[in-house]
Amino acid sequence: MGSGQVTSSVPSGPSDFQGKHVTVAGLGVSGVPAAKVLHARGAIVTVVNDGDDARAREQAAELEALGITVRLGDGATLPEGTELIVTAPGWQPDKPLFRAAGQAGVPVWGDVELAWRLRGPDAAPWLAVTGTNGKTTTVQMLASILRAAGLRTAAVGNIGVSLLDAVLGEEQYDVLAVELSSYQLHWAPSLRAHSAAVLNLAPDHLDWHGSMEAYARDKGRIYEGNKVACVYNVADKATEDLVREADVEEGCRAVGFTLGTPGPSELGVVEGILVDRAFVADRQKNAQELAEVSDVDPPAPHNIANALAAAALARAFGVPARAVRDGLRAFRPDAHRIAHVADIDGVAYVDDSKATNTHAAEASLAAYEPIVWIAGGLAKGATFDELVAKSAKRLRGAVLIGADRALIRDALARHAPEVPVVDLDRTDTEAMLQAVTEAKRLAQPGDTVLLAPACASMDMFTNYNQRGDAFAAAVRELDA
Ligand code: ADP
Repeated sequence: MGSGQVTSSVPSGPSDFQGKHVTVAGLGVSGVPAAKVLHARGAIVTVVNDGDDARAREQAAELEALGITVRLGDGATLPEGTELIVTAPGWQPDKPLFRAAGQAGVPVWGDVELAWRLRGPDAAPWLAVTGTNGKTTTVQMLASILRAAGLRTAAVGNIGVSLLDAVLGEEQYDVLAVELSSYQLHWAPSLRAHSAAVLNLAPDHLDWHGSMEAYARDKGRIYEGNKVACVYNVADKATEDLVREADVEEGCRAVGFTLGTPGPSELGVVEGILVDRAFVADRQKNAQELAEVSDVDPPAPHNIANALAAAALARAFGVPARAVRDGLRAFRPDAHRIAHVADIDGVAYVDDSKATNTHAAEASLAAYEPIVWIAGGLAKGATFDELVAKSAKRLRGAVLIGADRALIRDALARHAPEVPVVDLDRTDTEAMLQAVTEAKRLAQPGDTVLLAPACASMDMFTNYNQRGDAFAAAVRELDA
């Protein structure tokens, strides 16, 4: 880790937008509020949007009524005179709009950058979390811990609550627990968190970033300028490498978390107890008990890792050990994240519909044994050999659904030929009932039927929520 200054591009302060030509790229969750805020601060705002559907027209009408220019159906052309682009985080960096901006020397900010720039002088510091998997869970655990310490806080960012609202709203905060996606980090060059964690790093969204290196680089931005701690995963060396490469403030520490016994400057687990050997006096000799593994819901290994990362960030902020325990005890995971649906005839049915990539599915497959695995959907370019090879010995059987199920079937044939596979040749929404029925047939008492698709859901469902609901409904139907 080095320490260094980063220069910021214009405009640099909340009042600097008067008369500035700002282009907002993309209507939608972040674009509409961004356009309104910039307009209110005196900017001359033009919104550009690729789509031209009914929803876009409705949003455009609302903005045009305020005096904002909206161009529907053309997100590629850079409006003349643009001095700054504020983009929706999902817009891919290789779009022609950004190429034109690069040539013209126009800076591009995302929603996070805008919020960061607009926060007031006494704004709450940010404790930031990124990673391929576990972000939402960790940020919610962190907010719960901070709340247990009596701090005014909220879980914000990529989690549904917009950072712009958190930064500009009426509510006063002492500290924010911020979830950041790799897209948001890509477009947030001047963000400087109090402390930050990268939970893990596995190939995901590579079509967007262009390469694993670019993806890692964007994730690593979260450590830039950290003040107190850069939290990394001891089991995932790539996260530690990112800490080493970051420019941070003088005195900022690298703090690891591990499911094993922690060394100095690490948090870890000793005989079922979460312990801190980083934020204690004389860390060569001392450790502080924080909580018990059984305080974490669910106590699956990857979730203990999330709890340790949340604890590390909270401790970096000076939170006492007791609040870590109380906050973890108060935390309940969101729906479709290793949610226990029912026990029927001695078989547990677990919904991890949120396991939309192989890395996530690997974590949930590691938490049970034996498993009847329901998997499949849209692979997003992923390969399944490693996942299947690592999980093969835990599998009682597999039921495959969705468009790309042949990829998983082939990986099972290669690495787990003895595992019975039911390949459901249908992608309609009702297929889930058949999948659960087949899984029930394969399962024996003591087994877990686990929906951990390792794939996106959009071939069969609106989103992972609907997929998980369909699973739970099917389980209930079997139980009726
Ligand atoms: P994110 O916000 O990063 O998508 P979530 O907390 O919503 O993460 O969890 C998404 C899924 O990722 C979970 O359903 C689980 O399958 C898996 N998961 C959660 N934490 C981890 C972790 N630390 N390592 C690997 N997989 C994880």
